[in-house]
Amino acid sequence: MSEIEVHMFPCLTDNYGFLLHDPEAGATATIDTPEVRPILSALERMGWTLTHILNTHHHADHAGGNLKLKATTCCRIVGPRADAERIPGIDVEVGEGDEFRLGTHRVVVHETPGHTRGHIVYHLPDDRIAFVGDTLFAMGCGRLFEGSPAQMWASLQKILAWPDDTRIYCAHEYTQANARFALTVEPDNAALRARAGDVDRLRAERRPTVPTTVALEKATNPFLRPSSPQLRQTLGLPDADDIAVFAKTRALKDAF
Ligand SMILES: [Zn+2]
Repeated sequence: MSEIEVHMFPCLTDNYGFLLHDPEAGATATIDTPEVRPILSALERMGWTLTHILNTHHHADHAGGNLKLKATTCCRIVGPRADAERIPGIDVEVGEGDEFRLGTHRVVVHETPGHTRGHIVYHLPDDRIAFVGDTLFAMGCGRLFEGSPAQMWASLQKILAWPDDTRIYCAHEYTQANARFALTVEPDNAALRARAGDVDRLRAERRPTVPTTVALEKATNPFLRPSSPQLRQTLGLPDADDIAVFAKTRALKDAF
């Protein structure tokens, strides 16, 4: 089995486009379709032919290019069964635990409602990589447009269950702003402070901070750290359950 290749490039204001390519089988997927032109340019640059679109959710900066790309390339569109009516051009509907292959590589689907009710993520367990859309960000998580804190918390647990060295590709470059917020709720977290410095240096050179890893998020992402005594102290919730701590953290970030 050849190693899967990931090609990442900027789209729109702060989205990332991702092409996933299996050279052995000649299969290529785009994760979501934020913007048609940069995706077509990336395909041309790499010399790859688009075979699949893997949609995480229905928002326009994730599925807005579906129909144009399908018309141009005749690719197949895979997306969430729970949101099929909102995914333009969907061919294959998938849900929790479903598996399929991109070329020779196994892809496992998890439902992660919260940001939207139908959001899904794509995990390649044998390659230790995952594409999480707007569910998890580096030091952040998606806004709760269509789900409750309890739902989003349960969704994030699925990501936390993956091995620590899993590379997580999130869909936006929000890291610097997320770090600024994280430092207000957990200012003494040494790993967070170090990472915030790394992020500032990368962004000063206009370099991406994506992908992240499960281990890095466990250490620095306040949305995944409800057991942190300092976070609980900042929030004034010393004895609340984890979901309440998560909910308050999300509410504070919404107003940040
Ligand atoms: Zn979204």
